[in-house]
Amino acid sequence: MSDEIWMRLAITEAEKASQAGEVPVGAVLVYQDKVIASAHNLVEQNKDASLHAEMLCLKEGARILENWRLLDTTLYCTLEPCAMCAGAMLLARVGTLVWGAPDLRHGAHGSWINVLDPSHPTHKIQVRTGVLQEECAELMRQFFRKRRLMAGDCAKII
Ligand SMILES: [Zn+2]
Repeated sequence: MSDEIWMRLAITEAEKASQAGEVPVGAVLVYQDKVIASAHNLVEQNKDASLHAEMLCLKEGARILENWRLLDTTLYCTLEPCAMCAGAMLLARVGTLVWGAPDLRHGAHGSWINVLDPSHPTHKIQVRTGVLQEECAELMRQFFRKRRLMAGDCAKII
């Protein structure tokens, strides 16, 4: 149940991204029942493809804990992480990942490829999926529907 409480905070971050014209993905990093980092995508504003919500949380979490090893943290993310973020989570030794909606194009927990389930020699991340999935997915649908409308590409609207 507490997964939903933390995921709701990640959704709030995703909504901020949407308002800023960013793909609406949000993340929060929790340590000892406290949020130590929260972020949303900043790719468009900074013209930097690496500025995903998860990457920003990992960086901020390491700064707060003064340790790049984030062993006992849980990262909540509204979307299945991409290969870059999943790789960074492994490197940072994130303890647990909880994601909301699958990302069919870039998801690195099985939707496109799977870098989290195969056994890894140094670290294994516990993963829970599908938390508030419908709300997380709806944010994405609304965002891309709006973007297609703005592009005048009505034919592709489902
Ligand atoms: Zn990513």
